Amino acid sequence: MNNMTIIKRILLWLGAMSLVWFLILAFIVLQVRETVRQEGLNHLQKILNHKSDALGAYVVQRYDALDNLNQFFSFTSHYHPIFDKKMWMTDQLFSKNLQQNLADIKEKSGFYDIFLITLSGDIIYTFEREKDLHTNLLNGPYKNTLLAHIFQDALKQKKPYISNFDYYEPSHEDAAFIAKPIIVEGKILGVLAAQIDNKVINSVINDYSELGKTGRVVTSGFCNSRSINAKTSRHCDIKECATCNSFQLEAINNALKGKYGQQYTSDKSGHELAVAWGYQKDLRWGIAVHMEENELLESWYQSTTSLIILFFSGILVIGFMVIMAFRSFSRPIHKLTHYAYLVSSGHYNIQIDAKGYDHEWQVLIHAFKNMVIEINREMAKLNEQNILLKNQKNEIEELNQNLEFRIKKKSEKLQEYINIIDHYVITSQTDKNGIILYVSDAFCKISGYSRDELIGHNHRIIRHPDMPDSLFEDLWTTITSGKTWHGEIKNLKADGGYYWVETTITPNIVDGEITGYTAVRYDISDKKIIEELAITDPMTGLYNRRFYIKTINEEMNRIKRHDSSLALMMIDVDNFKLYNDTYGHQAGDDVLTRVSDILKFYTSRSGEYAFRLGGEEFGIIVSGMDRDEYIELANRIRSAIEVLAIVHEKNNASPYVTISIGIALYRTGSHATCEDLYREADMQLYRAKEHGRNQVVIGEKS
Ligand code: GH3
Ligand code: MG
Ligand code: MG
Repeated sequence: MNNMTIIKRILLWLGAMSLVWFLILAFIVLQVRETVRQEGLNHLQKILNHKSDALGAYVVQRYDALDNLNQFFSFTSHYHPIFDKKMWMTDQLFSKNLQQNLADIKEKSGFYDIFLITLSGDIIYTFEREKDLHTNLLNGPYKNTLLAHIFQDALKQKKPYISNFDYYEPSHEDAAFIAKPIIVEGKILGVLAAQIDNKVINSVINDYSELGKTGRVVTSGFCNSRSINAKTSRHCDIKECATCNSFQLEAINNALKGKYGQQYTSDKSGHELAVAWGYQKDLRWGIAVHMEENELLESWYQSTTSLIILFFSGILVIGFMVIMAFRSFSRPIHKLTHYAYLVSSGHYNIQIDAKGYDHEWQVLIHAFKNMVIEINREMAKLNEQNILLKNQKNEIEELNQNLEFRIKKKSEKLQEYINIIDHYVITSQTDKNGIILYVSDAFCKISGYSRDELIGHNHRIIRHPDMPDSLFEDLWTTITSGKTWHGEIKNLKADGGYYWVETTITPNIVDGEITGYTAVRYDISDKKIIEELAITDPMTGLYNRRFYIKTINEEMNRIKRHDSSLALMMIDVDNFKLYNDTYGHQAGDDVLTRVSDILKFYTSRSGEYAFRLGGEEFGIIVSGMDRDEYIELANRIRSAIEVLAIVHEKNNASPYVTISIGIALYRTGSHATCEDLYREADMQLYRAKEHGRNQVVIGEKS
């Protein structure tokens, strides 16, 4: 549908509009047909009324004519003797004279025949049937004829009326009569009877001037011999005639019941007919008039056919004109389309010879020509620029090759550096959850892990237990807030050893979001060893006194910050002088080493420290417990020393080597200086010695 050509679309619209108009036209034509049909019925009704009126008028005239004749005989007294049969028979001159006068009267009256009948029933005068003369209507063979009946009714002085049309045997034809008595001076002379002239009635009935070829008139009246004696004007007896249709019978029957009506119906051959019927009261006849519908609609058929021919001719002419108009309209389009294809396929240098007769086309063609010239010009420019660009492209390609060569060299150099970094710099990358994504060779080397053992694992794998939680909390707080963390970390080796690294951890930020972290470290293990040596007692491996002084200050400050507590435990070997004296100085050194090992064992967690403060005196700093827990820890240490079961015969507190412990508790504000704290611990130790050694003493205020 979308690919339709314009002309197809126009024709489609034209077709659709024609269809709509055709439907409207068909509707109107059918409406007209109905009107014509109704007019056909009205037309028949009009003819029927006209005929009925004409017949009625004729009957009324007949009554008047009968009256005139009657009066003529009543007032013309010299004719009265004719009713004397003998005179009529004898007087030839009189008879001839009468005949002459009656001929004129009959002519004027319009009757077919006139009968003069004596009171005794003898027909004494008739024009048409001389052989009927002297026939007696009461006794003769005609005594049951229509004439006999109407004669008898006239004698009874009934009002004159037209008899039924019935078969009148004496004349072998249908006939109707009318009669009136001739009364002179109150005495009935005889009866004047007249026969209706069928020709006049037939001329009215047989008037087909407005009934076309198929029109028919059917009439029927009552008679004595049959209940209904139907006659058409064409002498068709309805009951007996084979050509009569049931619809004619039905119409006549309705008419004889005094009804009027009209309808369309079918005859036995299937023809559609319009029928109108009515009752003629003067003759007591039913009259039906009918015509075939086709003839009634003939003018409609003709005008409809003409209309349809006109309609389709109009459509054809309009269609033809549209096509012709479009051809002249579309020729420039085809030409311009052809040129547009040429231009689109790269043929810019073309001669355009399209012609347009309309102003709009001329403007369009002119514009198209200008466009092609402009395109041609622009293409020439583009070609020039193209050549220029090609040259520039070659230059750029050359530059590019040089650049690529230099980049390659730089890359090689960079790779060297990377290799160097990889080899010498301890670096790693993790995702934001701490999962290792990359490690350098140097990292693997120092940690003792292979790359496969590290990548995909959490960085926690190299965490050393000596490193306090607080350090990692600080580290994560710093780097997750997008800042760089810097510090020294003791890491765990794969073989359980350790190494120290100075570490810088930087968040990797992409589009404002942390995607992971990069850590660069360098090995400070040697520095750390020197530092450790500086704070370690060489014989026992415990921290030395110098480190104690540094540590106690830091820890007291930490306790102040965290509102916690710490315990300083002063430890001294009991009667150690005697031990030396008894077992020798070397054995004394061994005891000191074993005691130190116990102290290390009980201060293995971060934040717990054991010091050799001098000779055979030791100190312990522990924190975060309550008073009883400190005492319990001290007693466990004391007990652990005794349980070593190092024989010391001269010890008065036990058969084995024992220690005494004095504890000073520090809380915020409890001691002004670390010296105060030290003094209190020393004093409690003194008290432990005083009270018998091998015991733990804690100050009252602690
Ligand atoms: P007390 O129960 O009252 O402490 O009695 P004590 O004998 O232990 O008395 P004191 O603590 O004053 O004795 C210290 C002795 O410790 C003196 C010295 O012989 C001994 N000593 C000090 N340093 C060392 C050392 O490095 N090695 C050895 N073997 N003995 C030491
Ligand atoms: Mg001592
Ligand atoms: Mg001692």
